[in-house]
Amino acid sequence: MNLPPPSEANPGELLVVNSSQLVTLAGPSRPRTGPEMRDLAIVQNGAMLVRSNRIAAVGSGAEVEAVASPHAQVIDVGGRVVAPGFVDAHTHLIFAGNRANEFEMRCEGMSYQQMSAQGGGIRSTVRSTRAATEEELVTIGRKHADWFLRGGTTTVEAKSGYGLTLHDELKMLRAIRAVGELTSLRCVPTFLGAHEIPEEYRDNPPGYIDLVIHEMLPEVTRESLAKYCDIFCEPRIFSVTMAREVLSAAKVSGLGLRVHADQFTCAGAAQLAAELGAKTADHLEQSDAASIAALKSAGVQPVLLPGSVYAIGSQRYAPARAMIEAGLGVVIATDFNPGSSPTASMAMVMSLACTQMKMTPSEALTAATINAACSLDLQHEVGSLEIGKIADFVVHEAEDYRELAYWFGGPGPAMVFAGGNLLSI
Ligand SMILES: [Zn+2]
Repeated sequence: MNLPPPSEANPGELLVVNSSQLVTLAGPSRPRTGPEMRDLAIVQNGAMLVRSNRIAAVGSGAEVEAVASPHAQVIDVGGRVVAPGFVDAHTHLIFAGNRANEFEMRCEGMSYQQMSAQGGGIRSTVRSTRAATEEELVTIGRKHADWFLRGGTTTVEAKSGYGLTLHDELKMLRAIRAVGELTSLRCVPTFLGAHEIPEEYRDNPPGYIDLVIHEMLPEVTRESLAKYCDIFCEPRIFSVTMAREVLSAAKVSGLGLRVHADQFTCAGAAQLAAELGAKTADHLEQSDAASIAALKSAGVQPVLLPGSVYAIGSQRYAPARAMIEAGLGVVIATDFNPGSSPTASMAMVMSLACTQMKMTPSEALTAATINAACSLDLQHEVGSLEIGKIADFVVHEAEDYRELAYWFGGPGPAMVFAGGNLLSI
């Protein structure tokens, strides 16, 4: 990778020139829906000025150069695409160990559900995460943060959920906070204490729900460790009734809501997300017309996770086209986790969105940037290249934005900037 030399003259001002396309995604500060999802507000051969870590001007080369300081550091992007940093609105950023052994067993024919029934799956990651110290989790989280940044992702939502005790959930959330402070990756924390029923509560799920509501939630909010609360709502894990209890308590505590919904069964989880005014309902592979209508009526954003469908070898992708046609503000995300979606690559997710869910490359890019930012209540800060926003942007190894989803497993970005700073990736 060719890195431009650091400028001593004016470190506060950066002039980005010679793009093939400056993909701004400029537009209203709300989720883009329907045909809006195809409007990327591209400035052909555009330029951009960054001042004090924020975007100060966007336009043609001549327009932007006219307002730049003569001492601005010039970044010549060599006729490449410049676009906002990806916003990944659903990740399990931190976990100890990996499940490559289970991957091999699944390649040999065992299903994800069979694996879980034998004590594998989430519960095996819970065992290794419980055994890790907070410091060890921070080290792992920093490594993962690097993977995201190298792929052009500058903001992630990051969930707890592999601790499942008060101590271990707080340990995970503190580690997420530390990774956000120690790296250039903006981390938005979500408390997912109800990710799985831990071994010691196998025979007493209501007891675990009590623990989540009465011991974990108060401590999480007291330490301001999370912005959102999430739950894995699935009949064989946490029923709609249990999910309503947890999410209602979280709402009273001031947390926003996200729900793992309709992944394996369509059993009312999307409707619950709508009833409680959740910010997002995530997965939705099994969603039917009633689920889509409920999300639409309540303004809940669907977060689609095609990587988790691909990696478990399923064919059942979420009905993205029906959701776009219904006017939902669709988001796509990696669901980065060691079991069902071991990828930090938003480019790969865009490819799957296009090839498997029949989204267009423009819709996929909108879903991976501004719509994702809206789903994290960050639409005023990131997700598009507009004046006043944080200068998180990516110089892609492409001349046309459609190549981002086209070269799957492709070359990766040429340069990534977070807050106007070029990262050495
Ligand atoms: Zn997930």
